[in-house]
Amino acid sequence: MKVFKFGGASINSTDRIKNTGDIIGSFKREKILIIISAMGKTTNALEKVVDAFYEGKKEDALQLFEQVKQSHLTTLKYLITQNRQQAENQLKDFFTEVEWLLHDKPVREYDYYYDQIVCCGELLSTSLVSIYLNEIGIKNKWVDVRDIVRTDDNFRDAFINWNYTQQKVKEDIAPLFKEYDLVITQGFIGATDENESTTLGREGSDFSAAIFANILDAESQTIWKDVEAVMSADPKEFPDAKNIYELSYREVVEMAYYGAQVIHPKTIKPLENKGIPLHVRCFLNPELPGTVISSKPVHNLPPVIVLKKDQVLMELSSKDFSFVEEKPMSQLHEMFAAIKIRPNLSQNGAIGLLCCLDNKAEKIEKLALAASEIFDVQIEKNLTLLTIRHYTQEKIYELTKGKTIVLEQKTTETIQVLMR
Ligand code: ASP
Ligand code: MG
Repeated sequence: MKVFKFGGASINSTDRIKNTGDIIGSFKREKILIIISAMGKTTNALEKVVDAFYEGKKEDALQLFEQVKQSHLTTLKYLITQNRQQAENQLKDFFTEVEWLLHDKPVREYDYYYDQIVCCGELLSTSLVSIYLNEIGIKNKWVDVRDIVRTDDNFRDAFINWNYTQQKVKEDIAPLFKEYDLVITQGFIGATDENESTTLGREGSDFSAAIFANILDAESQTIWKDVEAVMSADPKEFPDAKNIYELSYREVVEMAYYGAQVIHPKTIKPLENKGIPLHVRCFLNPELPGTVISSKPVHNLPPVIVLKKDQVLMELSSKDFSFVEEKPMSQLHEMFAAIKIRPNLSQNGAIGLLCCLDNKAEKIEKLALAASEIFDVQIEKNLTLLTIRHYTQEKIYELTKGKTIVLEQKTTETIQVLMR
């Protein structure tokens, strides 16, 4: 059994969906669980619907949702020839779920509505692809993952109930493979025991695929992307970025932790725990081998670079020149946890400490306010955090030339430099 995950870019047009169908069809008689993201930029479009709805702009929300509907109906028209009515009915059920909600007034928290609305992106895309594949003779079974993946109600960052999910996958998904080679379902979403939809955080379908791979003891997981392989840096920022064909779980976890947009950070653990290799392959050129990620240590990696822009440096100093000891430290960590913010870098001194944070305005404000009870707080914005794994002196020099370094930290493997 294999697990595949296709990202939004692999199905952002009828041609791309057909291409994805060709790839799936080329794996004859293999058992594959397939997770598919929302089409193209649908998740972003649905986020706008949520915003309008929550701001009380019902007409705008309905209008924005209408655009999402129309783009899916247009794709349907070009993609599906025989089973149009069935397809339309299936999509319309999901449209109605959302529209019904949009006609109400928001009375619960934003994150709750976010999940109820945004989840429809993957329900629509997987329905279309599944019906299309069945129509061209690639027999498959579509499953609503909300009946399988159970989570808590921490909307937008829901936590998996592993025991329940495991049991459901074993009872309801595994037996499907007796009749079908292919099972198609959604990533990124789940449901609470109250049957409310939840989401697992942006880009969460890599993680969903890993959950299934773990529970089904898959031989491998493959993430199909529009790049040839995992790269040593973002090629848009660093044109000399290199493809890396082999990586260890450890390396990928580190890269994701420092902010590389490679794979959702939670993806690796379920795979590592069962020694399931993760492949990253290119849907534009399925002949290419791509990257394989496994427990095998990999040496001689090129410098791996991650740049995080729009960083804030918060300088916290004790108000009366006293040392920053356990008590203020633990109070500060409680604030981080309560506000759900995590420093990307921090450094302690005698009477103060420095932390570098993503510039999420609302959270920064809350943190500064809370911290000002025990510290003097100073903030500097518009900084860039550079992380280099497997650094060389030349690379550090090249990337920090002409910049003012505000804070620097180094281990044998990794250097982090906060720059102005
Ligand atoms: N569609 C969701 C997103 O764009 C989840 C995913 O693709 O992994 O974040
Ligand atoms: Mg994606």
